[in-house]
Amino acid sequence: MHNFVYEALPGRVVFGAGRRERLAEEVAELGAKKVLVFSTPGRRALAEEMAGILGPLAVGIHDKAVMHVPAELAAEACEAAEALGADAYLAVGGGTTIGLAKAVAMATGRPVIALPTTYSGSEMTAILGVTEAGVKRTVVDRRVLPRLVIYDPELTLGLPAAVSGVSGINGIAHAVEALYGERANPITSMTAEAGIAALARALPAVVRAPGDLEARGQALYGAWLCGSALAAVDMALHHKLCHVLGGSFGLPHAETHTIVLPHAAAYNRPAAPEAMARVARALGTEDAPSGLYDLALAVGAKTALKDLGLAEEDLDRAAQIATQNPYRNPRPITRDGIRALLDDAYHGRRPA
Ligand code: NAD
Repeated sequence: MHNFVYEALPGRVVFGAGRRERLAEEVAELGAKKVLVFSTPGRRALAEEMAGILGPLAVGIHDKAVMHVPAELAAEACEAAEALGADAYLAVGGGTTIGLAKAVAMATGRPVIALPTTYSGSEMTAILGVTEAGVKRTVVDRRVLPRLVIYDPELTLGLPAAVSGVSGINGIAHAVEALYGERANPITSMTAEAGIAALARALPAVVRAPGDLEARGQALYGAWLCGSALAAVDMALHHKLCHVLGGSFGLPHAETHTIVLPHAAAYNRPAAPEAMARVARALGTEDAPSGLYDLALAVGAKTALKDLGLAEEDLDRAAQIATQNPYRNPRPITRDGIRALLDDAYHGRRPA
């Protein structure tokens, strides 16, 4: 047994179909009396449903969340929250909405409550990314960690099959990197492996039948575990590459994670054999990278960066940006190695 440090993050998790109906009681337990509900414009109806459940505890709806939290929208949301005298922020939606509520919490110190409807895991982390002048900066601060998370699989029934598949693999990516991350320990590794297994089992069923509540519950449970792993362990090569491809080339978040993950795993396979064995076991395959690639196929996801609109001539620049600052990774990062990885991801080759 290796030496390790394990630090649990605080936060209450309430899980189960229909549990959003307990929202008002849960919020009252927190001591909040004036809750501002956040959503994207597209999820306005869900926000209205939550405001209805909160009744007099709701002071308004702010339905202006946009992917990657533009700083000016965060400032606007902050003003709206202060004008209403809100003492807590409820985010109903995916990482986009939770990100906006976190940005406001960062400025005011008031608590975030999350009702996640995707599998990206932001609700379990103290990580906040805000985009200013085209650059996304990430901070880690306990003020943004949601104090209460209600996982209600019924809220995910409307998530389209195509979004569900890639969102779930985005969740799996957190757990894969948690297995070889710098602060990995027996507890986070156990959580990560169980999270991958739950999502890998559930996602093909979710994509086949998006209304399958049992499969939705399994997927959401896996997303919770994978988000917890993301929160506790430092990420490495895979997240760095996706950050570069999203931030500098505008590629979509979950789709990019889905395409890059098998190749990042293949790159790290020789240097992280124990982690790869756990990923393979969770997927029920012999080999982690090809198992991840096959899962992407099974959920009908795109497997090539060229299909996301990346130009082949951008690969050199992407490799250069991704290797200019050193960071920890099980296998040393080389420019040629990353360029070859990106070439495989660009063409969507199945890892050998
Ligand atoms: P998202 O929140 O943008 O949602 C993806 C799509 O699904 C959107 O089009 C949304 O409208 C739709 N959708 C969501 N719920 C739905 C529902 N119930 N029914 C129908 N459609 C629904 O996507 P995401 O992948 O969850 O979040 C991405 C953002 O979160 C990125 O900015 C990413 O960087 C950030 N993120 C942050 C963390 C963190 O720890 N800070 C972790 C993961 C992701």
